Amino acid sequence: MKYFIIALVVAVTLPFIVLKGDPMRGLYGDVDERSYLSGMFNLTKHPLFVNISTLDIDTDGRKHYLRRSTAEALKKMCDAFHKDNPEVRLYVTSSTRNYYYQKAIWDAKFDGKRKVDGKALNKSEPNHYKRALKILQYSSMPGTSRHHWGTDLDFNSLVNSYYEKGDGLIIYNWLRKNASRFGFYQPYTAGRKEGYNEERWHWSYLPESLLFLDRWMSCFGEDTSFFAKKGSFGGAEYADTLASVYVLGINPECKR
Ligand SMILES: [Zn+2]
Repeated sequence: MKYFIIALVVAVTLPFIVLKGDPMRGLYGDVDERSYLSGMFNLTKHPLFVNISTLDIDTDGRKHYLRRSTAEALKKMCDAFHKDNPEVRLYVTSSTRNYYYQKAIWDAKFDGKRKVDGKALNKSEPNHYKRALKILQYSSMPGTSRHHWGTDLDFNSLVNSYYEKGDGLIIYNWLRKNASRFGFYQPYTAGRKEGYNEERWHWSYLPESLLFLDRWMSCFGEDTSFFAKKGSFGGAEYADTLASVYVLGINPECKR
């Protein structure tokens, strides 16, 4: 009888122990891997995500969600920044974006509703491949953005020149010197040969994003057809060729 009870207890608890220890579950929660990595889940309800305002992280006033561990590291970094620079405001303007949000940005640029370098691309660039390349200077194709992962965020201004003087320069110099102590790195540095243009505002929590980069490449590096099935977008026929070039065209420190 004693052994029967022990066997029963093991049979009942083992699945919970195994599930809790499942590394994939720790990464994705209940969302399947491909859906997670391409931003096709409800991040506002995801148990591994947190509204960063609840951790007293300053924002542009909108609701922003990040993975809890990323947000906790960010909180420590922001506190350290403000201790060194009590007069300067450092705040989050963009955080996790889902597939459909990214698709809306992409489609607006592709269809000419939102101008790129002052031009409506549907008129100025009839070739879909070249049009996609123009948009890719700054925006990711849906399903391919680091902003899907919950590990990446944008600070104050989405203009590089903001970081050349005044508060922007103080922020950028401080981040370049100190962010790595908190696990944050700039993926889109100046001087890379491939990928998006420089983005001084975009920072990534590497202890988590390194894993997602690796898994993204395994899932989609050679086949991005999953994205188009979930809501196609302009130029999706070139995603196989272009997406991994941009996903990997980052600061070498971000793909160790
Ligand atoms: Zn960004």
